[in-house]
Amino acid sequence: MVQKPIVLASACLTGLCTRYDGQAVEAPGFREQVKNSVLIPVCPEQLGGLPTPRTAADIIGGDGFDVLDGKARVLCKDGVDVTDEFLKGARQVLEIALDQDISKIFLKARSPSCGVARKGVTAALLERNGFRLEEFG
Ligand code: SF4
Repeated sequence: MVQKPIVLASACLTGLCTRYDGQAVEAPGFREQVKNSVLIPVCPEQLGGLPTPRTAADIIGGDGFDVLDGKARVLCKDGVDVTDEFLKGARQVLEIALDQDISKIFLKARSPSCGVARKGVTAALLERNGFRLEEFG
């Protein structure tokens, strides 16, 4: 039997309503990319214990690598510090990635957790552990 590749993906890209505003996002081309794969959806912010919907948050004072190194924080728009939740969620995603024979990882662009180009916290931790990442949306 041919084994299908295992793909880890930001849960919101798969149509799950995990975004901070409780909405799903439509990422053109994503379904086509993963149609012959075993998909593992993960939302680091939910895995870190944050509710949905939740107040939008952003990295203050650097990028995801700086958060990992204790040089930057993640703050909600209302000033609540959610750095610990972001770090916990990133570690949970890393554990899942290490536990599976992952072929590809697709993450949601521009997110303070998942964004690859902007170095979200989860993206930074996965990159630091040698995973190659692609972003969508
Ligand atoms: Fe969750 Fe990442 Fe999607 Fe944000 S971008 S809702 S953290 S999966």
